[in-house]
Amino acid sequence: MKEKKTLRDLDVKGKRVLVRVDFNVPLDEQGNIVDDTRIRASLPTIEYLLDARARIILMSHLDRPKGRDPRLSLAPVAKRLSRFVGREVKLAEDCVGESVERAVAELREGEILLLENLRFHREETEGDENFARRLARLGEVFVGDAFGTCHRKHASVYLVPKFLKPAVMGFLLEKEINYFKRAMVNPQRPVVGVLGGAKVSTKLGIVKNLLERVDKLFVGGAMAFTFLRSMGYSVGSSLVEEELVPTARDILETAKSRAVKLYLPVDFVIGREVSENTPTRVVPWQEIPQGWMGLDIGHVSLELLREIIGDAQTIIWNGPMGVFELDRFKNGTFETARMIAESSALTIAGGGDTDHAIHRAGVYNAIDFVSTGGGAFLELLKGNSLPCLEVLDDRA
Ligand code: AMP
Repeated sequence: MKEKKTLRDLDVKGKRVLVRVDFNVPLDEQGNIVDDTRIRASLPTIEYLLDARARIILMSHLDRPKGRDPRLSLAPVAKRLSRFVGREVKLAEDCVGESVERAVAELREGEILLLENLRFHREETEGDENFARRLARLGEVFVGDAFGTCHRKHASVYLVPKFLKPAVMGFLLEKEINYFKRAMVNPQRPVVGVLGGAKVSTKLGIVKNLLERVDKLFVGGAMAFTFLRSMGYSVGSSLVEEELVPTARDILETAKSRAVKLYLPVDFVIGREVSENTPTRVVPWQEIPQGWMGLDIGHVSLELLREIIGDAQTIIWNGPMGVFELDRFKNGTFETARMIAESSALTIAGGGDTDHAIHRAGVYNAIDFVSTGGGAFLELLKGNSLPCLEVLDDRA
C-alpha cells in the first residue's frame, strides 16, 4: 500500500475544498435518521476544514434513488450536521448545474454547502466522465473521505480525484486505512482472525488472504459446515456448499503447511429449520442428526474461542457465528462480540452484519475500531486495493 497525502499536507485557507463524504445513513419511513454514526465519523475532517477557514463543499450519495426522489433528499443530513457543527449547513438544490455553481461562488470562508444526493443522477454510479468534470469544477482541492464507497468506481469517488488536484485523504479514510494496516500489515502478534457468515464462496478470498497474515483463524457461521463436510463428517441439513468441499479441504491443507492454526466450532445449537419456533438442541460437531441443521455455535465453542484469543495481541473479526437475526440463535455472535470487546488486544471488526451485531450487543465503544464500510472493508480483507484510494496523490 502506497503512502497517500492527507489533508494535513495542504494549506486550505480560503480554498474551495470539495469533500466526498459518506452520509449514506439509514432513514425510517418518515425520513428520520435512524443511525448517524457515519455523519459523526466525518466530523474530524469537517471540523479541521472549519478551523482552517476553508470554503467547504460536501457531497454524498444516499441510498439508491432511481432519479430525483424527494424522500431521499440529504435535507435531514444537512440539519443533523448543522447541529453537530453548531452552524448553518446550506443544502444545494442539486449537485451539478448553474444554481450549484452560484451557491459555490457565494460560499465564504468557514461556510459549508452540502450538495444534494449524487445518485439523483445515474451518471454517478455509471462513472460518467462528463458528470465527474462538472463536479470537479466546483472545488480547488479534493478530499476523499467516503471509505464506504472506496471499492466502487463511481464518478464522485473515483473520477473526480483524477480531474481535481490536489486530491488527498480525509481523516476518516486515513483512520480506516491506518487501523487496517495495524491489524494486517504490521501487526503485533499473535494475530487471530475470527470469521463467520453464510458462505465460503463469498469469503474465499478473505480466508486465503487471512491465512497469509494471521497466526490463528477461527471459522464459525454456516461456513464451518463446508469445512466439516470436507473432513468427512455428516452435518445433517446444515448449509453446505457442495462444490466448495474440495476447496475447503485445500484450505485446511494450506493452513497446516503454513502453520496457521485453523479452528472450527466444536458444538452447535441445532434446529429443524431456520425459524424462531423450531425445537433446538445443543450437540457436539460430529453428532448433528439427519433433518437437523446447525444454526449457532454452542458454549464449548465459545470457550474454545476464548482460549484462542486469550494471548492475542491483534484480533480481526468479520461475520456472524450463527443466524443472529433470530433470538434463538444470536447468543454465539453476541458472546463473540462481548469477548472481543473485553480483550486487551487491538480489536478491529467490520462488515454490515458484524457492525449490526456489535451495536445490538451493546459493545460498540469497547471495540478499538469498527469499520464504517462493509464492502470496502471486505475488499481490504481479501488483500485487494481500493480504486478510490489509488487515485489519490502519493506522498513523495
Ligand atoms: P455473510 O454475509 O456471508 O457474512 O453471512 C451473514 C449471514 O450468515 C447472516 O444472515 C446469518 O444469518 C447467516 N448465518 C450465519 N450462520 C449460519 C448458519 N449456521 N446457518 C445459516 N445461516 C447462517
